[in-house]
Amino acid sequence: MTADCLFCRLVAGELPARVVHETDSVLTFHDIDPKAPTHLLAIPKRHYRDVGAMVEADPGLAGEVLAAAHTAATLAGIHTSGYRLVFNTGADASQTVFHVHCHVLGGRRMTWPPG
Ligand code: C5P
Repeated sequence: MTADCLFCRLVAGELPARVVHETDSVLTFHDIDPKAPTHLLAIPKRHYRDVGAMVEADPGLAGEVLAAAHTAATLAGIHTSGYRLVFNTGADASQTVFHVHCHVLGGRRMTWPPG
């Protein structure tokens, strides 16, 4: 755990979260400020600042995050209509929380390219 990390504190149970799915290594919960009718975040319980750091250190864990994101999309019922997975990574991608998280977005038609 990284003491000053919001999502580490959430994993530790120090902050509340609306959890939809949990494994030994990944927690998936509702985003506090949803950008779509369904907006979930799948995060590894172990702290990595972004997806690049995670895949370099533990590519298997990256696979577990993707599997959890797909499971959560299925539980939310958006797996057939379609959903988008997003890893904002670094300043140009507007990453604001530096504990890697996979956005799971669905429940509406999305545009491309993203802004
Ligand atoms: O990819 P990015 O770092 O910009 O996304 C961070 C996400 O974390 C935002 O969608 C924000 O709403 C969410 N968040 C949250 N709970 C918090 C703080 C941020 O779900 N306490």
